Amino acid sequence: MSKNKSSESVKVVVRCRPLNRKEQSNGPSGGIVQMDLRLGQVILRNPRASHSEPQKTFTFDAVYDANSKQRDLYDESVRPLIDSVLAGFNGTIFAYGQTGTGKTYTMQGMWLDPEKRGVIPNAFDHIFTHISRSQSDKQYLVRASYLEIYREEVRDLLDPNHGNARGLELRESPETGVYVPDLTSCVCKSIKEIEEVMNVGNQARAVGATDMNEHSSRSHALFLITVECGQPGPDGRKHIRVGRLNLVDLAGSERQAKTGVQGERLKEAAKINLSLSALGNVISALADGRSGHVPYRDSKLTRLLQDSLGGNAKTVMVATLGPSPQHYDETLTTLRYANRAKNIQNQPRVNEDPKDALLREFQREIARLRAQLNHRKWRSQQKKEQVDDDGDEDLDCEEEEEEVEKEAEDYVKQEEQRLEREKEAIRGDRSLLAEEKQRLLGEKERMMGDLRKEQEATEQLTAKYKAMESKLLVGGKNIIDHTNEQQKMLEVKRHEIAEQTRREREIQQQMLVQDDETLELRETFTSLQQEVEAKTKKLKKLYAKLQCIKAEIQDVNDEHVRSRQELEQTQNELTRELKFKYLIIENFIPPEEKNKIMSRMTFDTEEDQWKFQPLVPTESKPLQMKKRPASAVGYKRPISQYARVAITMGAHTRFRAENIMFLELDMNPPNTNSLGRLKDTEQNQSSSADNSPTNDILGVHKSRSWCQSQKSITSSSSNVSLTSCTTALPAAAQ
Ligand code: ADP
Ligand code: MG
Repeated sequence: MSKNKSSESVKVVVRCRPLNRKEQSNGPSGGIVQMDLRLGQVILRNPRASHSEPQKTFTFDAVYDANSKQRDLYDESVRPLIDSVLAGFNGTIFAYGQTGTGKTYTMQGMWLDPEKRGVIPNAFDHIFTHISRSQSDKQYLVRASYLEIYREEVRDLLDPNHGNARGLELRESPETGVYVPDLTSCVCKSIKEIEEVMNVGNQARAVGATDMNEHSSRSHALFLITVECGQPGPDGRKHIRVGRLNLVDLAGSERQAKTGVQGERLKEAAKINLSLSALGNVISALADGRSGHVPYRDSKLTRLLQDSLGGNAKTVMVATLGPSPQHYDETLTTLRYANRAKNIQNQPRVNEDPKDALLREFQREIARLRAQLNHRKWRSQQKKEQVDDDGDEDLDCEEEEEEVEKEAEDYVKQEEQRLEREKEAIRGDRSLLAEEKQRLLGEKERMMGDLRKEQEATEQLTAKYKAMESKLLVGGKNIIDHTNEQQKMLEVKRHEIAEQTRREREIQQQMLVQDDETLELRETFTSLQQEVEAKTKKLKKLYAKLQCIKAEIQDVNDEHVRSRQELEQTQNELTRELKFKYLIIENFIPPEEKNKIMSRMTFDTEEDQWKFQPLVPTESKPLQMKKRPASAVGYKRPISQYARVAITMGAHTRFRAENIMFLELDMNPPNTNSLGRLKDTEQNQSSSADNSPTNDILGVHKSRSWCQSQKSITSSSSNVSLTSCTTALPAAAQ
């Protein structure tokens, strides 16, 4: 990629967390990560290698060790980016690293402890403090959205039923790049409001997951803030600048163990790896600069970060490391990743007057509401002037507004009183007929109703106007109470120090590079012996470098082999799954069904997956769903001859339906007797000579015949009624 004047590289900073208690108790070996804060270098020791083997050194824009403070990282590496966003650039900060290395700690931190608040809460503070201190001719509109990508599905975390909703789609427009069309976006007026948005999203994330850490290590979370700023330009017209900030907490970068996992877990593992490996591929392709094709479309994450990687954005990558020797491989991979990302060139530019600026829409709507209100007030004022002929002088805009509002209220009150008086007069007037009185009273009543309605409408309009206007933040107004001059100065100084440290480090790094180059030029040799010595020294240095590079090549090869093996394994698993599915299709699904399914399948290139065409008739293809066949003779349902006859006779409404049976209730419901009594009665029955049953016995008989043998059912009373009913049919038909 060619470097042009406006291009700048992705800033990469590395942070290493302290050893945790468990790691400390594991052994005295200590950490494997050393950091040179002055030079911005990370030195990695291979715990498995011999001491003679050279250590690996990587250089970054800044490094933060275990003792680093959240505030330092923010001031040095994030603050300039947020300032750019406030000036109308796009900005992205993403945290990358293995699970448990401090991505969430860096991005969010501990909200309640001011010392440990992470990048996101500090950015909230920064944005709203900046707005409160800016000039009063600036108008701001701040919006926030929160989404996560889980199993390659984009979920809106601010949507109350995001758990049930399907994944959101992505769209692309030449103006804004890739965006999510249906994403909820909340206008925030203060730090408290935006924190609330963050909380709601975090809760939604936690609710969807059984184990928060497990879930967060498998999903990518993106918090998006849009800051629009309107300001009159030198040409006198209002110009709007839109800065978009993406705050990204990525899923854990460790390789998901795939051996032995099947079904859903396999799919999930494959999809998580897909997003992160796609990110890796995009970074490689961009860093390499030679390959023309950058595979942004391979995953949702890379599509959403398209602008941040090689596009119109300023980007900071925070790579997080753990110091434990067990995770040497992962740490090395993270460092390589980060090292590659340094080479990505972005072309950030200020987004001036984009078509989709919400601020402009707000301003237009506010102007429209204001015009409407003014019109209403003017009307009521006119009416008032008709009532009492007072002249009115011009007042200041806001005062005037309040004045007019008060006047309008007075006018309504006066009008009401006047109407009330007139009503009284009509009531008291004896010369009028009762009817006439009623009519006049009704008319006055109507007039009062109209007056009230109008007042309500004005009130509603005023409320809407005020609500809309309050969403726009105006510079110069003290949103935050604690901002005073001293604090302002302190922040400026802190900013300056951070800037100075950064510059110092840059110069140190440059000096180091130049040292190597100029060493040879500076040396003049007085004797052959001296020359030999100097050259030997240089040879040794170069040899060490060669060894380093050889080791590097070996490492890269190993990594390549490893990732290839993993891909092969995934391929084998997917092939096995495919074969299994084919087996099911071939043996269990009839060919005609298969063909039907096949004919309904279409490939959606936008979403990159196969989809079913809907069975429900759509407008474009109305004939797709077959109609349900109607009854042969035109009835809704099949209907019996008997019911049809009954309908024509107009006999009973129930025969409008098809029921042919007329089941009478069994008038002698089954009795329940205790077992002992049952036995008694049985004995009685067998011993009774004349076989004349008592009432009790009859009950028992009935109950038995009712519930036991098929034969006794046919002789039950219900059957009698059925036969009587069917025998009654000819009679009814006659
Ligand atoms: P990740 O999001 O990368 O999975 P976490 O941010 O959840 O990791 O961090 C794991 C643990 O390590 C947390 O308990 C966190 O408090 C701690 N931790 C991470 N980074 C630091 C740091 N720089 N200083 C102190 N504690 C840290
Ligand atoms: Mg996390």
